[in-house]
Amino acid sequence: MWERLLSEEEKMIRDSVRAVVKKQIAPLAQQLDEEESFPWEQLKALSDLGMLSILTPEEYGGAGGTQMSYVVAVEEIAKGCAATALVFFTQMHGALGLLLAGTEQQKKKYLPKLASGEMLGSIAITEPNAGSDAAGMSTAAVRDGNQYILNGNKVFITTGDKADIVTVFAKTDFGLRHKGISAFLVEKGTPGFKVGKVEKKMGVRGSSTAELIFDNCRVPDENLLGSEGEGFQICMEACDYTRISTAAQALGISQGAFDIAFQYAQERSQFGKPIYDFQAIQFMLADMFTEIANARLLLYRTAKLIDEGVKDFTMEASMAKAYCSEAAGRVTDAAVQILGGYGYIRDYQVERMMRDAKITQIYDGTNQIQRMVIARNLQKRLK
Ligand SMILES: Cc1cc2nc3c(=O)[nH]c(=O)nc-3n(C[C@H](O)[C@H](O)[C@H](O)COP(=O)(O)OP(=O)(O)OC[C@H]3O[C@@H](n4cnc5c(N)ncnc54)[C@H](O)[C@@H]3O)c2cc1C
Repeated sequence: MWERLLSEEEKMIRDSVRAVVKKQIAPLAQQLDEEESFPWEQLKALSDLGMLSILTPEEYGGAGGTQMSYVVAVEEIAKGCAATALVFFTQMHGALGLLLAGTEQQKKKYLPKLASGEMLGSIAITEPNAGSDAAGMSTAAVRDGNQYILNGNKVFITTGDKADIVTVFAKTDFGLRHKGISAFLVEKGTPGFKVGKVEKKMGVRGSSTAELIFDNCRVPDENLLGSEGEGFQICMEACDYTRISTAAQALGISQGAFDIAFQYAQERSQFGKPIYDFQAIQFMLADMFTEIANARLLLYRTAKLIDEGVKDFTMEASMAKAYCSEAAGRVTDAAVQILGGYGYIRDYQVERMMRDAKITQIYDGTNQIQRMVIARNLQKRLK
């Protein structure tokens, strides 16, 4: 059904990522989760396949691939290991500000290194007192000659402790609320830029989630992205893309959990027959598969819109993010139920998938925020 939405090249990319995930990523997923380490080897495998540069334009050393090829890549990675998928797409998110608002000089300096994996990137919006209300951020950036002095804290920043370059949002004008936000590229090692607490999490444990501290951190003004005051616009445009990533991650988690439950239901016997023969189990699997199909069609259609050059896909991205992530919650819960007691045991993978699914409903804007975005756009579109 969805196969027809993919070009031959996109199918080839999906198949090559699937092969690498099967051999080099999925077998390490449980260990990565247990050890709460970082997926260096897995990133290397994806980099060797050229995946870190999939969305980077060719002139900056990338493959200039389609959004659809990116979505199927994230989906395949998340099917085997959601934490690796998160670290993978955070690398893409680290380049978003540059792609949306970077100068030629900034793009030439950083994009090839992000595309090759020589540099790791991340994006820092959230603060202790500003999550859903990003415009309420209090990190300050004050101009001083040809530098900006940054002061404040960011929290929950994926790859923040490892990143070589972080896109940081800060206020250059506190009188203007969201219009006073600007975006900066801050390099690791910049004096006054420190890593704080690295969080322990429920899921996606093989990714790192760090506090970043800016203490009189001096950033050269050539590292301002766009103009002063354009930061919120850059952030919102970036979020339309990051939501596609999260939706694809959620979809991959759902498919991974379904595959395990479907196979298990045919192999496990109770009352003298495979549990698949009980209608209760069949109906659960039928519902899971239908939800996955719905999620995939919504997400793929959104990716296609982007590839067709549609500029306003904000509502579609929010719908895909909210739907795919909530489907992942229901599908992984059902998968654990189908495996019974074994579903609760770590060796059987679905309990990890259930934990991993939860975060997709929270980050990149909680699903309550996605509903606000959808509702706002409904009024515009259905006038
Ligand atoms: C593992 C992980 C990785 C992350 N990675 C990053 C990253 O790389 N970069 C980054 O910047 N951030 C990152 N985040 C932060 C994440 O995006 C935020 O946690 C998220 O946006 C929610 O913000 P909050 O936690 O402050 O919750 P709050 O905003 O405090 O929300 C609490 C609750 O109130 C609800 N709520 C808030 N406002 C409204 C409203 N107006 N109407 C209805 N309900 C509302 C929310 O939906 C939620 O249920 C990450 C978080 C985690 C846990």
